[in-house]
Amino acid sequence: MVHNIYQGMGLSRVVNASGRVTKLGVSTISDRVASAAVAGAQSYVVIDDLIDRAGKMIATHTGAEDACPTSCASAAIAMSVAGLITKGKWTAVARMPDSTGMANEIVLQKGHSIDYGAPMPTMIRLGGGVPVEVGTANEVHPEDIEEAITDKTVALLYVKSHHCVQKGMVGIEAMRDIAHRHGLPFVVDAAAEEDFRKYIALGADLVCYSGAKALEATTSGFVCGKEELIGYVKKQYRGIGRAMKVGKEQITGLLEALGQYEEIDHEARAEINKEAAGYLVEKIEAISGLRATLIQDEAGRAIWRCRVAIDQAAPNVRKTMYQVNEELRKGDPTIWARTEFLNLGMIDFDPRPLVQGDKELIVGKLEKIMGE
Ligand SMILES: *Cc1c(COP(=O)(O)O)cnc(C)c1O
Repeated sequence: MVHNIYQGMGLSRVVNASGRVTKLGVSTISDRVASAAVAGAQSYVVIDDLIDRAGKMIATHTGAEDACPTSCASAAIAMSVAGLITKGKWTAVARMPDSTGMANEIVLQKGHSIDYGAPMPTMIRLGGGVPVEVGTANEVHPEDIEEAITDKTVALLYVKSHHCVQKGMVGIEAMRDIAHRHGLPFVVDAAAEEDFRKYIALGADLVCYSGAKALEATTSGFVCGKEELIGYVKKQYRGIGRAMKVGKEQITGLLEALGQYEEIDHEARAEINKEAAGYLVEKIEAISGLRATLIQDEAGRAIWRCRVAIDQAAPNVRKTMYQVNEELRKGDPTIWARTEFLNLGMIDFDPRPLVQGDKELIVGKLEKIMGE
């Protein structure tokens, strides 16, 4: 059995059927991205120049005027907020995240105020912003957004994510129009999205992305958008951005991953993953006591997963989904399914991060758990 570096440290091997989640290390990089990261780490460079140059290079992949590499999407959000509050003023940058007395409010819909592993309002506050959540968790009206806008408002934030409440929210175009009608920047958090051009093309002024999710880059992120606003964001590296420093090797890895992403046949990969999800559905459905179905990603991305629940009609089922999930995680390798719907008695297997042999291992482990 091939041991990875973490096993060498006495840690369990992870079967990641969860997806691109921070809890498990998000994604793994290809040799190509790894080589670029190593090369980046082995030379000096004027970091300000690297950030400017990388920003322009990222911009060409997104259709934006400019971009700024960051350590992750969370840093991109916090630095964007700080940038929009400080608007290029050095003294203001140095004061962040204390924005007392300044226009500092970020309006977002209540159903977008999510926890993606950390709370969205925390990232806004980290950048000196005050989150203004409008509407209710399941319903927001355009008027809720309109009437929340005051002279303290600096931007409207739209979060595109499967974590968000999908029903009853104001659509992205409508929210963009409200922002622009009030002369305010429209910011989109598209951290886990796979389309790096869509939101810029839609007229967003700043868009935040994660590097390690869809791009499978080194741990990184970026914000792209209007040149003037990106300038405000970059200035944060002399303020709060220092605590979110992006390394030169993270940047070279990110740039390589952007090139790599455009060469990947995504449709073929989605098809392979759909087949893998189908394999899991077929094998798990055959296990007495379990039901399995093929589902598509809640945010409508081309991601297929295998959803598993207890078969209440089966005889002699003594286990709950909570117990099944707990037993999957026990031992080495430790198996991690998605548990967003565990409260409803369901777990999901995302086949994308699985390596050879993992599918069979999951089925074997479930057979053992249900047979006990
Ligand atoms: C993952 C995620 C983030 C944070 O991305 P990091 O790169 O891990 O900081 C922010 N927003 C959404 C919607 C996410 O899915």
